[in-house]
Amino acid sequence: MQVYIVGAGPGDPELITVRGQKLLKKADVIIYAGSLVNPAVLNVAKAGAEIYNSASMTLPEVIEKIDELVKAGKTVVRLHTGDPAIYGAIQEQMDELKKRDIEFEVVPGVSSFLATAAALKQEYTLPDISQTVIITRSEGRTPVPDKESLRSLAAHRATMCIFLSVHMMREVVEELTAGGYAPTTPIAIVHKASWPEQKIIRATLETVADKVQEEGISRTAMIVVGDCLDADYSLSRLYAPEFSHMFRKAST
Ligand code: SAH
Repeated sequence: MQVYIVGAGPGDPELITVRGQKLLKKADVIIYAGSLVNPAVLNVAKAGAEIYNSASMTLPEVIEKIDELVKAGKTVVRLHTGDPAIYGAIQEQMDELKKRDIEFEVVPGVSSFLATAAALKQEYTLPDISQTVIITRSEGRTPVPDKESLRSLAAHRATMCIFLSVHMMREVVEELTAGGYAPTTPIAIVHKASWPEQKIIRATLETVADKVQEEGISRTAMIVVGDCLDADYSLSRLYAPEFSHMFRKAST
């Protein structure tokens, strides 16, 4: 195997997987998504490894480059932020590689919505509050299908993690409120989760847009909304003393 699509994690270089880091150490060439990957993640690259920033490349250029490198016998890591399956634009890359009979492996990463939960010290799935996490974004240059509008997803009042949208905070709040979240619903914004400059804003739907504006946050932030952020929840059954399961008998 010569081509690896690797999740770099959310920013902190210690939050890449062991396998991902081993591959970075071994790679002859690393093509990384420059706009978001923390360059510190690349510090483990071997001396003489070639490093390309894909921010300035088109899809055909990336594929052409990989093809050329594979033919020259090089090991290539294509490095994406977080987990590559979430807004990574990797499907089109994988499909092109398949067409060219170039084998590849995908190595998952810690997505930023999970690094955000860690920063907030928050479980997204609280019994009686929400057992569902919706990962979505508002429409930008990439369209979002109508049936998945923020407004319609908001009707579930599940825990929502909204990517790629903090620059449109006022529209996001409007849609969430129109969809069914009360104006007092708690919301958190985490800017650059796990980076040294990480910043957390906690607010309600009513107050969040002004706070985001005051802090000047316009990119690389996760929006989390839902009652899990401030809720009286039921204790989980998994650890309840009177509850037995495969690995533990109930105490009497
Ligand atoms: N594949 C990535 C997402 C890429 S889309 C992942 O799994 O995390 C880019 C969006 O991800 C940003 O607009 C922002 O919403 C979010 N994001 C990426 N890194 C982040 C971080 N460290 N903290 C908060 N949000 C982040």
